[in-house]
Amino acid sequence: MKIRDLIIIGAGPAGMSAGIYAARSALSPLIIESQMPGGQVALTDFIENYPAFPNGMSGQELTKLMEEQCNNFNVEFMNFIQVDFVEKENKIFKLKTNQGDFFAKTVIVATGASPAELGIPGEREFKGRGVSYCATCDGPLFKDKDILVVGGGDSAVQEAIYLSKFVSSLKIVHRRDKLRARKMLQEKAIKNPKIDILWNSNLLEIKGKDLVERVVIFNNKTNQKREIRIDGVFMYVGFKPSSSLVRNLVEMDKLGRIITDHKMRTSTTGLFAAGDVRNTPLRQVVTAVSDGAIAAISAEEYLEYELKQ
Ligand code: NAP
Repeated sequence: MKIRDLIIIGAGPAGMSAGIYAARSALSPLIIESQMPGGQVALTDFIENYPAFPNGMSGQELTKLMEEQCNNFNVEFMNFIQVDFVEKENKIFKLKTNQGDFFAKTVIVATGASPAELGIPGEREFKGRGVSYCATCDGPLFKDKDILVVGGGDSAVQEAIYLSKFVSSLKIVHRRDKLRARKMLQEKAIKNPKIDILWNSNLLEIKGKDLVERVVIFNNKTNQKREIRIDGVFMYVGFKPSSSLVRNLVEMDKLGRIITDHKMRTSTTGLFAAGDVRNTPLRQVVTAVSDGAIAAISAEEYLEYELKQ
């Protein structure tokens, strides 16, 4: 049984930043990732607010650079391994995965978050057949089509602007009369001739035969329902933290986000959390990489001073 100093779960920006810092502290970190390195941000078309890149870049380009930097520091990656559960026994963490057990003295959970479902009839039925949670992946499939984007936050508005390049028309369906998204994004969307905003509106149902054909929209001010013809629906109604693997080990808030202190320590000693999986006040790449760096240094301090006591 090989017991590693540190295992990082998740190879998004938080996990890869933790990997870089941990490698520089000679902890020989292993990053276990359920897919390929990159995380949710790798699905983002354009990032314009990450410092040091004045012309912006795609999420995929940015995370590829992070991966390259990890490789330069000999961070070890194991991809396509799903960690189902983390346990702690006699100061050692056991990670139960679909490819056997892994053991470590300290663990950083950087599993991020996944897109939330709206939970309406037709949503699951038409997932992949007109219902999508990823504009970068599926946008080009909707060339010259009419689509809906649900939500009023940064993701909905930013991805609507991106999708408008392909589609014939796009309606943002938002439940209130004010968008939550940043002003700069709002202004771009409002100026965009292909984008129309349906205010005070809820998407109630998605209908069709093989593919999405129609949706039912409810105006919560006038209490009127109407059915419109549509080819695709992109959901951006928030994210849910991927924290279930440590549900029996750490304290979480009511949204399921892992509660940490400023050193990224969770309620279990030796277990740290970084990025969107924790109760962060700002969900950005820049905060995720900062969390990852802090978590790695805290893990190093734990190994050096606390574990030996
Ligand atoms: P978000 O900020 O939580 O927004 C979710 C949106 O979905 C809100 O407009 C919300 O409506 C709506 N919504 C939630 N549940 C709903 C329901 N059941 N029915 C109808 N509408 C519902 O999520 P996000 O836009 O994915 O952003 C997540 C985080 O990532 C944020 O911190 C954001 O700033 C960050 N982010 C940043 C950028 C960027 O900097 N460029 C890009 C993307 C994301 P209400 O407004 O009425 O609550």
